[in-house]
Amino acid sequence: MRAHVISRNSPATKLKAGSAVFNEVVAAGEAWIHEIKAGQIFRIVAVGGNQAVDTLFYSAWDTSERYSAQDTILAQRNIYLRAGSRLMSNIGRPMLTIVSDSFGRHDTLTGACAAQSNQVRYALDKRYMHNCRDNFLAAIASWRTSLDKRDLSANVNFFLYAPVSEQGELSFAEQTTEPGSFVEMRAEMDVIELVSACPQLDNACNANKPTPIRVMIWDA
Ligand SMILES: [Zn+2]
Repeated sequence: MRAHVISRNSPATKLKAGSAVFNEVVAAGEAWIHEIKAGQIFRIVAVGGNQAVDTLFYSAWDTSERYSAQDTILAQRNIYLRAGSRLMSNIGRPMLTIVSDSFGRHDTLTGACAAQSNQVRYALDKRYMHNCRDNFLAAIASWRTSLDKRDLSANVNFFLYAPVSEQGELSFAEQTTEPGSFVEMRAEMDVIELVSACPQLDNACNANKPTPIRVMIWDA
């Protein structure tokens, strides 16, 4: 597999770590759930680089409104997410806007790793391996919502590059994101943010070695 060299396409905003109202490290392979208010800026940092971050968003006021990969792709006429991308809901409203980004080709086609897909792709005994879908389920069970398994829809994979060939074939490219790679987004509505620092050990999305991520929030 050839390495894909990522160029920085958008500088970080001038927000300083000291002025963040929330600043935490999510351990390698773990999940995080939090509310982000309209106007707040949310930053995810791949601290060590080479780390996919599976993410879903729900309206904090009505979780039946949630991130829609199809509406997002249709609205921007492009399959990759980058600075300027608006993350659309299933009723066609912008939920967040990516305002700054060092990656440029975030994926929203390949879904989250799960016990079932790990068995099909890799080996039957991978059923028990830590995975993003179980991370999502554990996080929503800990949160004050009625979200359940049926609410886990097609997600965003920040810092994952999944090239599509001319024949429409999908693959996972080897990741070469630098330590400190980041993406920043502004919430356009109050959202529940559900994040999994992907624990996958068997494909290139984490360079086969999951590492911690940092999550930061600034007020408007
Ligand atoms: Zn995963």
